[in-house]
Amino acid sequence: MVIQPPNQQGVDVVNRTPGELTAALLADGGNDPTLLVQHLHRLQLEYSHVPADAVEVLAKGLGLTEAQVRGVIGYYSFLHESPRGDYDVRFSDSITDHMLGSRYLLQDLAGRLGVEPGVPRPDGRVTVTTTSCTGMCDQGPAILVNGRAVTRLDNHRIQSIAALIEHRTPLRDWPAAYFRVDDNIRRKGLLLNHPLRPGDAVVALLELGPERILDRIDAAHLLGRGGAGYNTARKWKFCRDADGGDDGRDRIVVCNADEGEPGTFKDRVLLTSYADQVFEGMTLCAGSIGARRGFLYLRGEYLYLREQLEQTLRQRRAAGLLGTGIGGRAGFDFDIQIHMGAGAYVCGEESALIESLEGKRGIPRVRPPYPVTHGYLGRPTVVNNVETLVKAAQIAVSGADWFKTAGTDRSTGTKLLSVSGDCERPGIYEFPFGVTIRTVLDACGAADPQAVQVSGAAGRTIPPGEFGRRIAFEDVGTAGAFMVFNNERDLLDMVQNFAHFFVHESCGFCTPCRVGGALVQALVDKLHAGHGSRYDTEELRTIGGLMKAASQCGLGVTAPNSVLDTLEKFPRIYESRLSQKDYEPSFDLDAALQEARDIAGRDDAGAHIRNGI
Ligand code: SF4
Repeated sequence: MVIQPPNQQGVDVVNRTPGELTAALLADGGNDPTLLVQHLHRLQLEYSHVPADAVEVLAKGLGLTEAQVRGVIGYYSFLHESPRGDYDVRFSDSITDHMLGSRYLLQDLAGRLGVEPGVPRPDGRVTVTTTSCTGMCDQGPAILVNGRAVTRLDNHRIQSIAALIEHRTPLRDWPAAYFRVDDNIRRKGLLLNHPLRPGDAVVALLELGPERILDRIDAAHLLGRGGAGYNTARKWKFCRDADGGDDGRDRIVVCNADEGEPGTFKDRVLLTSYADQVFEGMTLCAGSIGARRGFLYLRGEYLYLREQLEQTLRQRRAAGLLGTGIGGRAGFDFDIQIHMGAGAYVCGEESALIESLEGKRGIPRVRPPYPVTHGYLGRPTVVNNVETLVKAAQIAVSGADWFKTAGTDRSTGTKLLSVSGDCERPGIYEFPFGVTIRTVLDACGAADPQAVQVSGAAGRTIPPGEFGRRIAFEDVGTAGAFMVFNNERDLLDMVQNFAHFFVHESCGFCTPCRVGGALVQALVDKLHAGHGSRYDTEELRTIGGLMKAASQCGLGVTAPNSVLDTLEKFPRIYESRLSQKDYEPSFDLDAALQEARDIAGRDDAGAHIRNGI
């Protein structure tokens, strides 16, 4: 399916003052502080930043301090206090986009527009910079322009985009082909071949009742598809059994559509072409656990999907599948709101996501308590991945035995894989759990693979000797990313890209991740530049181990994976670069002191640090 660009997001639509728009937003949404991130997101889109008068009006209207509002703006990559330019161009910094030449295209566009990367042009027209993965790895190189994805960049398209920007052409008048996003479904299995009609799972729920639905999902042994693999029925039952407030239904269902893992784009496809089933799964969950409110937390990079998702919600309300008395059953009341993310990878972690839903900075919570008992605004909350919810709806309709016709004993059903990198046919592949990595490589046309990065930057690096291993929770688990690197690639480029990614995305709350990530990045940079020694590789092992053992959340625990895996399984990428010295400092003290020496006009030769000491 092809997405056409909506018309309402040209850059020439700013007709109201920021204060007036903010007041209108507050009047429309009420003075609810949980809407802070949503209001900021809207202001950013309208004005390319959040103006100071809007901050003041928001703070007063929501009962917050201006410092609190500014703290939230500063936390999210897509929010800014100073103007970004009428055209805010962000190149995907994913390693697969690098492999397709994105860095050269960025330099080309910046040169044509006369702009320094990361710095707004003095006339306020444009900013050109990078962002973490845009979720378009199967059709890159990709950019976001004012939040809208532009795919399949090449030199010709860059030349055209530079001209469109110089002529102040509104986005609505750019060629529609630039915004084309294809599903690229290459292989279908149980899920993608099993269309449900709107309401099928609701009918099953009303016929069988919540208890039997939960039993079905339990019997199917459905494990969460977001990576952690937690038992879905158990999570739903824990939430159902938690205190549901005065009327017993103050529980929350959240669909985690914040797929920010580099190399993952399966949820993009489900939200594009299977959205009704996603909402069906959320409604099924609500009816099974006794919940009235639901949120779909949509990553900011998928802004272009919002309008069609809202349209699907409107259709479901009109059909009596959302709202009050769902399916004609008195008391079955449930509705769904879409909340936009604003560029924070860590919000894929469920407690960070809940903080963001509450309008705050997305910092992971200290657990326990867990969200199933104390989640959104302290209420019992189920957070499920997009793919998990679709599968739950299908199991409700077709039963556990149908689901278990695919997969292994411990990993039932199928898995959607987002395949990208060095292969002929990147895209979405649905395989039964238990499929070997070699089978996936053959299917996608990967010639001469050197390594596969399974489950994105946070995942594992698999060498050819392990291509017989199986995609399954009991062997190689994955949230879905499958990145192929052929023998011409320098794997240390990948390791360096991931090290920078995690430093950028760390929330900074705990020391092992904040400091450890920065140290790993510095050491990888040093090794990449050919200045590293064996001492540095040992340091990497030690710091990586500390991060895994002591980080607060999954981000810090998984951040050193690619470093540790490649040190063990691809030692040559380090050994070929090691300098012959025992040790070389990462920090050049002499160079750092030079400016001060120049200013002071003093340069005591005896105070210089000799190289290598
Ligand atoms: Fe934040 Fe990293 Fe600590 Fe997670 S591990 S809480 S992302 S600093």
